[in-house]
Amino acid sequence: MKTCPYCKKKVDDDSKFCPFCGRNLTKVTKQAIALSEEETKIKNRIQALANLALIVFFGGLIICDWLLNVLLGAMNISTKGPIYLSCAVYLVAGAIALLAIYQYFLVKKKGIAVENHELVVPLGVLSVIVLVLLINISGVLMG
Ligand SMILES: [Zn+2]
Repeated sequence: MKTCPYCKKKVDDDSKFCPFCGRNLTKVTKQAIALSEEETKIKNRIQALANLALIVFFGGLIICDWLLNVLLGAMNISTKGPIYLSCAVYLVAGAIALLAIYQYFLVKKKGIAVENHELVVPLGVLSVIVLVLLINISGVLMG
């Protein structure tokens, strides 16, 4: 058994390709390893940003759209403050999700092959944020 230099999993000594990450094990260069490490770093960064966007989004949803409304309602205060605040929070969350997507295109230029499915989560998060933001904005506009 030997260790795949890319994904660090155990593979057969005579394998030409890693059965886990599919990389060529006959032509292992320092450059290829560096590129694959960069790739892992970028993938992690995309995931971290998508998670952050989701956390900010849910923070806005729970604190602004729900908690503040409940509190103000209990105090009989009628204001659109919370909905404006949540719109601002969703914009920040959306910007973070866009940053995650931007990372993907940034490395494409450098020749690092980050797979398309890495975009699924940030795109999904962004769609949900935009959808809720639009619902909020239409709520503001309709009074
Ligand atoms: Zn591998």
